[in-house]
Amino acid sequence: MTTVTDALPRLLEASGGHAREGGVADAVDGLVPPYVVAPTGPRATEAVAAVLRTAHADGLAVVVRGAGTKLGWGAPPRRLDVVLETGGLDELVEHAAGDLVVVTGAGRRLEDLQRDLAGAGQCLAVDPARQGTVGGLVASADAGPARLGRGPVRDLVIGATVVRADGVVARSGGKVVKNVAGYDLGKLLTGSFGTLGVLTRVALRLHPVAEAGAWVTVPVASARHASALVQGVLHAQVVADAAELDRPGEGRAQLAVRLDGIAPGVAARAEQTAALLGTGAQVSDTAPAWWGRDLDAAAHGVTLKASYEPASLAVLLEAVDDASAAVGLPLDVRGSAAVGTLTVGLGGSGHGSDPAQVAAVLAALRGAADRFGGAVVVRDAPAAVRAAVDVWGPVRGLDLMRRVKERLDPTGVLAPGRFVGGI
Ligand SMILES: Cc1cc2nc3c(=O)[nH]c(=O)nc-3n(C[C@H](O)[C@H](O)[C@H](O)COP(=O)(O)OP(=O)(O)OC[C@H]3O[C@@H](n4cnc5c(N)ncnc54)[C@H](O)[C@@H]3O)c2cc1C
Repeated sequence: MTTVTDALPRLLEASGGHAREGGVADAVDGLVPPYVVAPTGPRATEAVAAVLRTAHADGLAVVVRGAGTKLGWGAPPRRLDVVLETGGLDELVEHAAGDLVVVTGAGRRLEDLQRDLAGAGQCLAVDPARQGTVGGLVASADAGPARLGRGPVRDLVIGATVVRADGVVARSGGKVVKNVAGYDLGKLLTGSFGTLGVLTRVALRLHPVAEAGAWVTVPVASARHASALVQGVLHAQVVADAAELDRPGEGRAQLAVRLDGIAPGVAARAEQTAALLGTGAQVSDTAPAWWGRDLDAAAHGVTLKASYEPASLAVLLEAVDDASAAVGLPLDVRGSAAVGTLTVGLGGSGHGSDPAQVAAVLAALRGAADRFGGAVVVRDAPAAVRAAVDVWGPVRGLDLMRRVKERLDPTGVLAPGRFVGGI
């Protein structure tokens, strides 16, 4: 067995010459990796497999990096020896436009993929403002407004090539949408934060780009009002494609509903939606400035992700108001109100990054979690905050998750400690 300090020659050999020493710019959560590998070229999947075989044999801890936009999500890894960059796995393998399916290298940038697809009038149904790589999107299960109409990221994944922690290459699913056979690794890895395997290729279901779109916005007066509006939209015949809430801690709250389709249909549905939403509702053919923009750490400080039963939106928002009053911080809220996922920002400009305040907000919201039927996790936060608080909180099904990790990565090669329960 080699040691961490002399692994470079083996990593160079495994990666086909694409390994180097790491530096401060490669740090993940303050941990500077001794090595960075960046496999590329037509045999990149095999190179990833050889790198992981080396890591597995030598006990090296590996963190996968796509574009690096969400590397700070989840708990900080306990150890870091190798950053494995996927940017070289950016091949557009096949766009089967007639089947509405694309097969792509996991390192392909989302903006590049969307451009590839646009020529055929198709798209991957995630919000256009998303940055990052296809693999990062799947591994973080990060959905935007389109989730209401098009489903969550895991429903868009129909097949994947995955390199397991021991370097074995596994393929599951395929490029047909109706695929029910076997163990669905692509779906299992959705939201796994790089802890279960390395996605090298992904087959994705596509949607046609809508011919027309409209937004209907309405001011929101209170938590109960927000909830009544969302329930009205969910149960109406207009079939909204997205419904997003923006509720700054200080300022006016707004609900915006998007309708997609053919032009005459959209116009009629937008009018029906405006009537449904009531006083102050306005129809526009452009999105509100905040649409599809996640609360980011730079402007909104520490961000939390709250999931809840859509029918319990008012309970969650009231819990946010109570936490805000108790801690003395304005809390910003934005996200897919009708789906049941909202981001809570603890205030930008240097506020809200005190670990004690974050812990107090978390305790208040988690204390109400049974009543809103969900959970609250820390998403974006400085490493000092993530080291001081329980990032994931209580999670149902932890024993099952541990068994899956034990099966796929028994020695803890992949981002050890990042996931729920220290997985
Ligand atoms: C170790 C491990 C084991 C897994 N085992 C299974 C399995 O047995 N069956 C299966 O279908 N999928 C499994 N998954 C995949 C996981 O369930 C997917 O992440 C999930 O399907 C993604 O859901 P989502 O798209 O709604 O993501 P989101 O709701 O956006 O969640 C993102 C991630 O946060 C996680 N999370 C952790 N703690 C919380 C919390 N307190 N509240 C809410 N979310 C939390 C989710 O599981 C998910 O990984 C596993 C993942 C891992 C890493």
